[in-house]
Amino acid sequence: MEMGIRENLERVKERIARAAQSVGRDPGEILLVAVSKTVEPERILEAVEAGVTDLGENRVQEARAKIEQLGKVARWHLVGTLQRNKAKYAVRLFDMIQSVDSVPLVLELEKRAAKEGRTVPVLIEVKTSPEETKHGVAPEEVDELVDRILEAEHLVFKGLMTIAPFVEDPELARPSFCLLRNIKERLENRGVLVEHLSMGMSGDFEVAIQEGATMVRIGTAIFGSRNY
Ligand SMILES: *Cc1c(COP(=O)(O)O)cnc(C)c1O
Repeated sequence: MEMGIRENLERVKERIARAAQSVGRDPGEILLVAVSKTVEPERILEAVEAGVTDLGENRVQEARAKIEQLGKVARWHLVGTLQRNKAKYAVRLFDMIQSVDSVPLVLELEKRAAKEGRTVPVLIEVKTSPEETKHGVAPEEVDELVDRILEAEHLVFKGLMTIAPFVEDPELARPSFCLLRNIKERLENRGVLVEHLSMGMSGDFEVAIQEGATMVRIGTAIFGSRNY
């Protein structure tokens, strides 16, 4: 039998705390983003009532319907690939866009954010594994993208995001997280502040925390398996 959202959330929080403590980190520096894609609004609200402060969605259209129904019950993060023609809605709807992956997208977001009179915090999505299906920029392209974001008046560079390869053994995801941390260190050596490393999902978040995650994006472990 599947446990309730509240119980699942408590369990996840305990696991976050344990993972942080295993490497001497303060669990308070890790933000839990509950990924609510495919989850109905009623159950999202249940998670919010149980203490979730940040929600992640991967599609603009789906998020739009939910945000219109539920309102700003939490901070909404876009964690899925963003097409340029949806940039206008994305800057209106989301408190953070975690999936910035090209210069043209940066320019479009800047234009739209300026028009809306908004300032949008963003993360760069980095491809940290060779899997064909993964989105994101190559590690060697991160610097240029950071520079373009820093030039954009209505975007605020907040850090890096990655999706590790889907593997049975979470240890096999570690190189991916380690690479993202190395890119953060490289940027900081250039004087660029990298506040967030968004990495770790239901299957691998403990390893991500050991490698320095400040945001974990967790769906299944909170809401149960998704029915598409
Ligand atoms: C779906 C999704 C998650 C959450 O995945 P789970 O394995 O269900 O925890 C995290 N990040 C992104 C980008 C996603 O699309």
